[in-house]
Amino acid sequence: MLSILTIVSILIDGFLDGGTRREDDMNYTLANIDGRAALVAQGQWYDLEVVSGGALGPDPMAALGEPGQLAALTAKLNEHQPGGEVETATLEAPVPNPRSVFAIGLNYQAHADEGAMEVPENPLVFAKFPTCLVGPSADVQLRSDLVDYEGELVAVIGPGGKDIPPSQAWNHVVGLMVGQDISDRAVQFAAKPPHFDLGKSFDTFGPIGPVMVSPDSVDRNNLRITTEVNGEVRQDGTTDQLIFDIPTLVSYLSRVVTLQTGDLIFTGTPEGIGATQGKFLAGGDVVTTRIDGIGSLTNPCVRISDHNVC
Ligand code: ZN
Repeated sequence: MLSILTIVSILIDGFLDGGTRREDDMNYTLANIDGRAALVAQGQWYDLEVVSGGALGPDPMAALGEPGQLAALTAKLNEHQPGGEVETATLEAPVPNPRSVFAIGLNYQAHADEGAMEVPENPLVFAKFPTCLVGPSADVQLRSDLVDYEGELVAVIGPGGKDIPPSQAWNHVVGLMVGQDISDRAVQFAAKPPHFDLGKSFDTFGPIGPVMVSPDSVDRNNLRITTEVNGEVRQDGTTDQLIFDIPTLVSYLSRVVTLQTGDLIFTGTPEGIGATQGKFLAGGDVVTTRIDGIGSLTNPCVRISDHNVC
């Protein structure tokens, strides 16, 4: 027979999603250190191949379909010697080689308003080609004077799938990261009608990281996201303002595409982009993108050439 306490606890769990720790929560943090997958706990990193006894290899892409194993190994990390401190490690993109990188435009009301754009009735989906991805402290290479920042929450697909209902979608998300959807506005709007893909896919236009955290280990429906340029706060939003939330996006995309392990979804940016303020990125600028509970990206900008695309 269920005790009163158990019933109360079930009721509370039923009412509160996200911030409440549950018995079956999966907690882990995955990093890419010098090209090798590592688990992170208490500021220390542990080589994944070592702590798994070889069951999971060093490829950062290989473990993304195994959230249960990542959680089980994390629970036993105290049995192992750490490889070192995360703070002094060289962190690379936690998901370096996804097959597909989806991104969503105009997914915050205030951002749509600032550009005088109508909020779409269906998600506005475009691609960032995976070659644009770089690590959390990589240089962003500018090839014009019209390059902009967009701080975003990025979802990582774990077990893939097709026609995923929204109620099952979180079971297909292995982790969350911070992302920068760097955009060359001239190239983004060069064609008529515009296609966003190329203008957002120059090499280095997709910093991600600094680590990938399990959705259960943060308040996954309400994360604060900020972007600073040279220490000046330009964007400050929370992901509870998303028009199409992560379950809706996963479900929507999977009606068309068979989602693959490691696929990324850049979920859209809050208001405060540079284009509406006439504040584009210049060589020497430093973009800092932070999500509470995940970490921050720090990306210096370098003006390397003119693209001559348009
Ligand atoms: Zn974006």
